[in-house]
Amino acid sequence: MAGRSNPRDILCFQHCDRHINILCFAVPEVCPICRRLTNETPCRIPPYVIPSPFKHAWRNPCSVVIRPTFGTFLNFHLCKLHMSDYLVHFLETFFPGAVFDYDEDGVNIGSPTWDQECIVVDLRNEGLNQDMMRHWDQYLIYMSKSGIWTPLRYDTDRHNCYDFVLTFLKQVGLNFENWASHSKFSFTQNLVLPHTAKAGKYITLYRNILKDGYFCQTSPQLPGGM
Ligand SMILES: [Zn+2]
Repeated sequence: MAGRSNPRDILCFQHCDRHINILCFAVPEVCPICRRLTNETPCRIPPYVIPSPFKHAWRNPCSVVIRPTFGTFLNFHLCKLHMSDYLVHFLETFFPGAVFDYDEDGVNIGSPTWDQECIVVDLRNEGLNQDMMRHWDQYLIYMSKSGIWTPLRYDTDRHNCYDFVLTFLKQVGLNFENWASHSKFSFTQNLVLPHTAKAGKYITLYRNILKDGYFCQTSPQLPGGM
């Protein structure tokens, strides 16, 4: 009933009740509320796609991108439902065409593990200007060859991908004034959590739909801002 490009997009529509939104991947043949056939009866609000909070990293240069430790955000079996510190350990930064990340293997450039939909933190809203973007690549390459981000120096708590990202952003010259401090905590609170909270709502919705093929929600709760 609705034009869509991805078979796993979340659709939302209202059939007969203006207080109930029906969320689904494909419009059910029978309305779960009135039991009438949906292709023979009008919808109060026709199906539309709820925008996904996930994006492909390579389409978003000069950003910080986040992915889960294992699997994908929407993978039911491998991804944790509640986003915790678990994810924060996988904050990474981005170079046009390739993601740079740091782990126990050292600096990885263009790892295929990033070929999935990620949470993208767009730094242009955080003070990143044209001049900083011009030097972005240069600083990434410099850091990857500096001898500081080696496998040997990797430490899960004190010298990890998070430190790599924060050090890089400081080198680029991003103004941290609005973030209260340069700490990981501040960075998480101000830049990461707003994105992961939004993604968490979407994942919950996605998993609710997986159970029955649709999910009914009273309309004031609709995640219209997604
Ligand atoms: Zn109905």
